[in-house]
Amino acid sequence: DQTILSIRNMKKHFDLGQGKILKAVDNFSIDIKRGETFGLVGESGCGKSTAGRTIIRLYEATDGEVIFNGENVHKLSGRKMREFHRNMQMVFQDPYASLNPRMTVGNIIAEGLDIHGVASGSKRRERVIELLDAVGLNAEHASRFPHEFSGGQRQRIGIARALAIEPQFIIADEPISALDVSVQAQVVNLFKKLQKDRGLTYLFIAHDLAMVKHISDRIGVMYLGNLVEVTTSKELYANPLHPYTESLLSAIPIPDPEIERKRERIILKGEVPSPLNPPSGCPFRTRCPKAMDQCAVTMPPMKEVEPGHFVSCHLY
Ligand code: SF4
Ligand code: MG
Repeated sequence: DQTILSIRNMKKHFDLGQGKILKAVDNFSIDIKRGETFGLVGESGCGKSTAGRTIIRLYEATDGEVIFNGENVHKLSGRKMREFHRNMQMVFQDPYASLNPRMTVGNIIAEGLDIHGVASGSKRRERVIELLDAVGLNAEHASRFPHEFSGGQRQRIGIARALAIEPQFIIADEPISALDVSVQAQVVNLFKKLQKDRGLTYLFIAHDLAMVKHISDRIGVMYLGNLVEVTTSKELYANPLHPYTESLLSAIPIPDPEIERKRERIILKGEVPSPLNPPSGCPFRTRCPKAMDQCAVTMPPMKEVEPGHFVSCHLY
């Protein structure tokens, strides 16, 4: 089977008390194939990080299934749970906050080796040097502390830490969003190289489509806790179907000035509604330029309108 991760109707609701339920993730179903990069895109607060954290079981799912290598992640315990955590690792958005400032880089990278008892002594040291090398750093960096490094270098350290116990799958939660634009492409290229060398599968989370364009095989677009469109990267850019995807794409500058001049920017009205009080029917209807009466009444189901191209919108 090609599928490494299969998510069915995953929900993550937070009970805030006094009858308030925050539906951070409400409709989320995807399959990810071994060796592919699945890009997950949406504005901040749309639930993408919560989805990532629920998949890796930093959060318990409220409902639905997360099947990884044929096993339901939310039912694992003991040895199986440890094995799952060896196979799925996370790289975090903020390379400043996610590295312990009092630990040396070598000890940060070796943390997983220590926890899982994989390597000690000279083997551990060799492994750390190999990992530093794999992410474009070097052996002397092992004895230094995180504050001595730039944002891009810190993210490389975070990646080395995630790779230490040879996972199959990495959830990268906005790994380039906090970096200078000049550094972003280098880190994306590092992700690509590591994937090729190590056969990794990625869930790559970002807040705009420009960031995931060059790394994703397929892309899922999220809005207010719901996946609204899923297709190949190529198809999404050439033939976006959901009005929200159209607006996200129209925000990306096109390098060709001829095309750029003729193009229409879709400016969305209003703000993203609170997930505590989502609109009835389609979650996007309060901002959708194409909303119809029906959109306020029923939630559009996810439909496969062309092979492999899924969209949740009453226009289709
Ligand atoms: Fe717009 Fe209606 Fe489609 Fe929602 S269902 S995206 S409101 S047209
Ligand atoms: Mg986030």
